[in-house]
Amino acid sequence: MRAVTFQAPGEVSIEERPEPEITSQDEAVIEIDVTGICGSDLHIYHGRVQIEPGFTIGHEFVGTVLEAGDGVSRVQPGDRVLGTFHTACGTCFFCLRGVFHKCEEMRVFGHGKLLGSLQGTQADRALIPHANMTLRKVPDGVKDDVALFAGDVMGTGYHAVAQSDVRPGDSLAVLGLGPVGLCAVQVAVAAGVSPVLAIDSVEQRLELARAFGATPVHVTEDDPREEAKRVTDGRGVDAAIDAVGHPDALDLAIRLARKAGVVYAIGVYAEPCQVHMGLVWIKALTLRSGFANVIGHVDHVLDMLGSGKLDPTPLVTHHMPLDDAPEAYALYDRREAMKIVLTP
Ligand SMILES: [Zn+2]
Ligand SMILES: [Zn+2]
Repeated sequence: MRAVTFQAPGEVSIEERPEPEITSQDEAVIEIDVTGICGSDLHIYHGRVQIEPGFTIGHEFVGTVLEAGDGVSRVQPGDRVLGTFHTACGTCFFCLRGVFHKCEEMRVFGHGKLLGSLQGTQADRALIPHANMTLRKVPDGVKDDVALFAGDVMGTGYHAVAQSDVRPGDSLAVLGLGPVGLCAVQVAVAAGVSPVLAIDSVEQRLELARAFGATPVHVTEDDPREEAKRVTDGRGVDAAIDAVGHPDALDLAIRLARKAGVVYAIGVYAEPCQVHMGLVWIKALTLRSGFANVIGHVDHVLDMLGSGKLDPTPLVTHHMPLDDAPEAYALYDRREAMKIVLTP
């Protein structure tokens, strides 16, 4: 079968790989129908997240079950399914406490040895461990392009908002309007959070945020700190989400949040970074971080996608054949696409 493999920074290729085979009763093999390219794939592409050359990448997917072990009860062959970007065992210390993203056996699709040596989903077919935890049936009427978001990007936006402790009527700032930031904006608006300040420097992204019901704020042409004060009687926003993963965004989030507010760093951090702890301390901020507990949220996110309360369709800018993956990565790297969907 064909698979998109990492070769070297700036280089991916299409290679022949052996067919996946079930080795344990709780696994399934699926035929990939669509698979997305994610911002975290770009970290691999750039060499910022290091994986072995020849490893199959990709972790966003919708597919059809080909084969399932005897222990798989949630789905069966022929079912149209979506998957979460990582697996969890369901029985360890962390899973029993519902923090599936910290599972002791957690493995992420397409991230090499570093995250569990689990081959990725930008391929014709993929092996799915712990299928009862990892897979869900796609509800009737939910399109592939929409379902694709449930197991990663929308689940991540959902997690960031949920962890920000905002209630209807609370104010929120979202810094960085890539797919995750824009999904966080949608979730917040759907939850009745208002106002939602959506901060970025790219005009089209600001326009999308406006269409989703947020107040767009240009990071340099406007004054985000003044804007946050203006809409909160001078207090600052109840919560701020850093969806960039850069110290400048984190610093701004800390400054935009009100006293005793919440700052959530959902953007990827892989290096040490300086945080103004004096400001965090004197403002009594709650600082949270980490990637999302998508397994914990996937059923609720699917309900909201199914009812149309959340609709990530406008974020899908490109459909391309799997064979064009090298071109798709180059295009994504040039920031000419928001979400590229590959079809094997
Ligand atoms: Zn992702
Ligand atoms: Zn576990």
